[in-house]
Amino acid sequence: MAGFERHLADELEAVREAGLWRELRRIESIQSNRVTIEGREYLNFSSNDYLGLAAHPALGQAAKDAVEHFGVGSGASRLVCGSLGPHHELEAALADWLGAESALVFSSGFAAAQGALMSLLGQGDVVILDKKSHASMIDAAKLSGATLRVFRHNDLENLEQRLQWAAEQGGRVLVATETVFSMDGDRALLAKIVELKDRYGAWLMLDEAHALGCHGAGGSGLAKRLAKRVEIRMGTLGKAVGAAGGFICGSRGLVELLVNKARSFIFSTAPSPAVSASAVAGVKLVRGEEGESLREQLWQRVEELRRGVESLGWGVPAEPSAILPLIVGSEAKAMAMMGQLREAGFFIPAIRYPTVARNEARLRVTVSASHSSDDVQALLQALARCEI
Ligand SMILES: *Cc1c(COP(=O)(O)O)cnc(C)c1O
Repeated sequence: MAGFERHLADELEAVREAGLWRELRRIESIQSNRVTIEGREYLNFSSNDYLGLAAHPALGQAAKDAVEHFGVGSGASRLVCGSLGPHHELEAALADWLGAESALVFSSGFAAAQGALMSLLGQGDVVILDKKSHASMIDAAKLSGATLRVFRHNDLENLEQRLQWAAEQGGRVLVATETVFSMDGDRALLAKIVELKDRYGAWLMLDEAHALGCHGAGGSGLAKRLAKRVEIRMGTLGKAVGAAGGFICGSRGLVELLVNKARSFIFSTAPSPAVSASAVAGVKLVRGEEGESLREQLWQRVEELRRGVESLGWGVPAEPSAILPLIVGSEAKAMAMMGQLREAGFFIPAIRYPTVARNEARLRVTVSASHSSDDVQALLQALARCEI
């Protein structure tokens, strides 16, 4: 025991010294534009609940109804006896919303990425990722056993070099990227990436985690209009949809393969029926009139924030998204700025290595349809007063 505890202490000391210490903050309030921590209320600009659906009564009601009918636990994995009505309903709703033949729900987006890459690739294959890909995709790529190659963020020439190299290896080749990048809020150059992967006979997987609900007709994301040319689309139900879980959608064959091969699907207990039923309600809301009006509010707030932040001298991504990174550079500066904003009553965690590259530490501001114009103005005033 003593040796083990010493090891832990050494590791933790190294984390602290690098300025990368992390700890949990206990939140005692409902998920919304305000959070209460240790009795103090903060304006929350850190959530991925972009449409404010996480605490929507329709999602709560759907969960209650599902608990009444199915109970809380799903009891087993989907292939044993856990494949319940709400899972099937959710998969049908996702396929219909996203214009896919079929969809498969996982317990998280993280598990969905793992299931897909591990089912599709193995030794002798190549997976090519954008440099800014999410940890779930990087880990999935590593676990698949395929050779991992990275191309510079949104650099298509560099992607083409990787594709040329990969084509010579003789195995299958898969390119994966995000449609809206989680920490930068910028977008992949989708049309050109699709053209390139087709030219080289590679497959494409697109992670729509931060596009769903916000972008595209009915909030259906940025990849739908290219659906016929994209082999694999993935998303999460825990961000704009307001519930939890992840999914893959594509052809019937893709889903059948995952049901038969995806270890994170086969060997994991099915999501709670309550959560999947809430996700069905979330998808319905996102697609409908209420979703449309929430998106309008979201984009108004995004515009207000972008204008304000630009006039304070910060750069903003070329295209608007609900994610606005304020890149400050060093880890210490980001922590100092987070502290000042916290003092002023704003909850915006600093994002540091390894979530982003070293010396690209930032405050990741996220806007929600549930913010008011006054909330955004208050944040801009606090930012103007920050000293870094
Ligand atoms: C959040 C996220 C995931 C993982 O989804 P979870 O359902 O939270 O596990 C995958 N990719 C990206 C880009 C994400 O931001």
